[in-house]
Amino acid sequence: MRVSVFGATGSIGESTFDLVSRRDDIQTVALTGGRNVERLAQQARSLSAEVAVTAHDDCYLALKEALSGSGVEVAAGTEALIAAAERPTDWVMSAIVGAAGLAPGFRALAQGATLALANKESLVTAGPLLMREAARHNARILPVDSEHSAVFQALTGEDITAVERVIITASGGPFRSWSKDQLAAATLAQAGTHPTWDMGQRITIDSATMFNKALELIETREYFGFEPDQIEVIVHPQSIVHALVGFRDGALMAHLGAADMRHAIGYALNWPERAHLPVARLDLAQLSQLNFEAPDPDRFPALRLAREVMELRGHAGTVFNAAKEVALDEFIAGRIGFLDMARLVEHTLDSLLSDSGLTHAVEALETIMSMDQMAREIATRFAARTA
Ligand code: NAD
Ligand code: MG
Repeated sequence: MRVSVFGATGSIGESTFDLVSRRDDIQTVALTGGRNVERLAQQARSLSAEVAVTAHDDCYLALKEALSGSGVEVAAGTEALIAAAERPTDWVMSAIVGAAGLAPGFRALAQGATLALANKESLVTAGPLLMREAARHNARILPVDSEHSAVFQALTGEDITAVERVIITASGGPFRSWSKDQLAAATLAQAGTHPTWDMGQRITIDSATMFNKALELIETREYFGFEPDQIEVIVHPQSIVHALVGFRDGALMAHLGAADMRHAIGYALNWPERAHLPVARLDLAQLSQLNFEAPDPDRFPALRLAREVMELRGHAGTVFNAAKEVALDEFIAGRIGFLDMARLVEHTLDSLLSDSGLTHAVEALETIMSMDQMAREIATRFAARTA
């Protein structure tokens, strides 16, 4: 099997690298990363990749030097990233963070490869387009977000029309029990520490605001095609149950597992088979209890905003995601407060609501990109006023 990993040096990328390294029947085609060229070069040498690509032109020489004598080709920049997705391969991990992960995924589908999708932004901004592209090329998308992998597994062998509801779980993040006043003063260091999952910085902060769960609500809708009112979120601090599917006979099928992304990645890598995976086995007696509670929409408005986006559809997901990315940048830079992030996203959505283009069906990547740009400009202006 031929495999490429986009975003190989990130949290999902490293977990994918770990699983791929354990297999001797996998040939690595492309590995991509950002500024961490030393690590990208190590990975490429260790897997004897065909090509290593850094997203940044100014990192080309450093990567070239780090890979000299290895026989691994070296490339840099956005165009090179897209070209890498066109190299013949069977399985592609989409684990770049942000809207930058969109284009390589489309190219991978166009060649009929299986797309293991960790990048949330692809479904949130371009869901209908991505699903259509997969169908057009007879290519498969396998969800890698733990909740969506769990739903996918619970649905295996089931009649999808018998599904009544889907429940995805949220850990609640580090601020699950914080008051609004405490949230207003939350720092970057506090928001960047997750109680149960070890992930990249951006998704960790998105978990603290529950924007991560908001993106996952939209992803669930776009990938499986369920109606918004069929999809629920429940806070489950232990992160052991990842999702549940409820059928019309009242049965709930739950997926349980340790909080280790190698499960969802390994499931997608071996699908439709189940291979032995090096993840911890649960000791239920030791766990002794699993807790569940309703999310609080007042302290965590992200979920309410996601519901609005699901009703609006069209380009609302693009606007939501772009504004959220700007809000995150502004918070990380220390220019806005924790609660300002949701305000900024709401303001951006509101100010584009009267734009007729917002609810137009998603037809082309170009319109997604221009809507993304427009939303970023509005969000940036609003942030400057807030700061
Ligand atoms: P990360 O920040 O750890 O890694 C991101 C990777 O993308 C790195 O290799 C980085 O070099 C690369 N990258 C960053 N910006 C880029 C750009 N503009 N162009 C090209 N490459 C770029 O992120 P992560 O936590 O591994 O998450 C990756 C994606 O998977 C995100 O969309 C995230 O929401 C999703 N996801 C992550 C987890 C998790 O447990 N970490 C779980 C579910 C879904
Ligand atoms: Mg998730």
